[in-house]
Amino acid sequence: MNDDVRSRLWIGNSWQDAASGRTFATVNPATGEVIAEVAEGGAEDVDRAVEAARSALASSAWKRMNPHRRAEILWRLADLIELHADELAELETRDNGKPIFESRQVDLPSVVETFRYYAGLADKVQGDTIPVKGPYLNYTLREPVGVVGCIVPWNFPLNLASWKVAAALACGNTVVLKPAEETPLTALRLGELGAEAGLPEGVLNVVPGFGETAGAALVRHPGVDAISFTGSTEVGRIVMREAAETLKKVTLELGGKSPNVVFADADVEAAVRGASSGIFYGKGEVCAAGSRILVEASIYDDFVEAFGQRAEKMTVGDPMGPKTRLGAIVSEAQLERVMGYVEAGREEGARLVTGGERTQVDGRGNFVTATVFADVDPSMRIAQEEIFGPVAAILRFEDLEDAVEKANRTFYGLAAGVWTRDIGKAHRMAAELQAGTVWINTYNQYDAASPFGGYKQSGFGRDLGYQSALEKYTQVKSVWVALDR
Ligand code: NAD
Repeated sequence: MNDDVRSRLWIGNSWQDAASGRTFATVNPATGEVIAEVAEGGAEDVDRAVEAARSALASSAWKRMNPHRRAEILWRLADLIELHADELAELETRDNGKPIFESRQVDLPSVVETFRYYAGLADKVQGDTIPVKGPYLNYTLREPVGVVGCIVPWNFPLNLASWKVAAALACGNTVVLKPAEETPLTALRLGELGAEAGLPEGVLNVVPGFGETAGAALVRHPGVDAISFTGSTEVGRIVMREAAETLKKVTLELGGKSPNVVFADADVEAAVRGASSGIFYGKGEVCAAGSRILVEASIYDDFVEAFGQRAEKMTVGDPMGPKTRLGAIVSEAQLERVMGYVEAGREEGARLVTGGERTQVDGRGNFVTATVFADVDPSMRIAQEEIFGPVAAILRFEDLEDAVEKANRTFYGLAAGVWTRDIGKAHRMAAELQAGTVWINTYNQYDAASPFGGYKQSGFGRDLGYQSALEKYTQVKSVWVALDR
């Protein structure tokens, strides 16, 4: 264990123990080592954090803060994250098991970009003047929603937290952040860096703990005005139900089973590369993972062969190794879930092309080899359910109509990919696919300026972009002024 790892609750800009005095271990999935014993937040701690956030909301330090100053603080926080990027990336990799290449070269730069992008929004949140009938001046004020509860999963712990926290703070809200129990460490460090950047007491609070206790308490709390949730569709349903009692504003970024559609007229080599990173990046523990690869019949066999060969080169390794591209599965429980799906794929008659094995690095850790199933039928569980692991299901289609029908045959609708050289076909597909994001001849592109979120049961509300932030984290007040008296 490391003494330098922050592991207590971050409330009102200070470290605090859980009221119960309880802690839980957070484990490095690549080695099995306990990284830290973390304070286990419960309902009482959530109360304390919400109280701190409510007083901050009403305090002149935050409420009356000049928006240019708020922008400066968020920009300064981005600078501090950049300054500590090595430390944060290492912490993320140890907690989550993702390759250091991903944490350092992708996650951290994206967190910095997100804080800078929303720093730019902080002094541009404004209303309109509206041409109404009669002798009246009518204008709108865009005000913060209030206290925002942000609940995030373990796959991109700091990155997904930044999508919510940066946007909510830019719009003048205060935040209680509940990181996932598997990966609480970078969120805690973010709280501390926020204070160093100049966030007043209580503006950003971080309460680690379990979903059914700390998470549920936040969702039910009458002092929380909005819940911004990212996680599974299953838990999203619970969150929506529970939030109904206090009629909170809820936005849900949920799971996916995203199709990656490869037409015969595509640059097939590029498609093999793109589809491979689409499913194996982040160990497949990516909400938008292209886990269903749909390939046109005339190139199906060649594609499967090339894809299988590429997957065989995706060897697992120590996540801290700079060349590692496939890291450790986040937890023992998740590993078992993934292996359960490998078994289901076999039993339902899909053809295992490669992988499907549990393995270790240096005799320890939770690793799975890159797994490819071919001859997958759309009705099979591996084609329908979110596995959240490095398991690709390759399906066959006959023509564009068949591709659309198969791609949309799921209750998820998070993302989709299309590979073709035919520009008309590409745009037709973009229009037909029921997904919040469509990537054409690329996959897994993100930018702080471009909205991201789901269709159908992948949720509603968007992260990233400025309109999404305004919709999620502000409310509109209409003001009428009589001009004739
Ligand atoms: P999860 O739903 O189990 O947990 C997500 C968060 O919710 C955690 O912090 C957890 O503690 C909390 N939680 C659990 N039960 C709760 C409850 N009853 N009340 C309140 N909070 C509760 O998801 P996970 O396993 O951590 O993450 C994987 C899931 O997240 C996948 O389904 C993935 O697709 C999804 N995801 C979606 C996006 C997106 O942007 N759409 C991004 C990343 C991950």
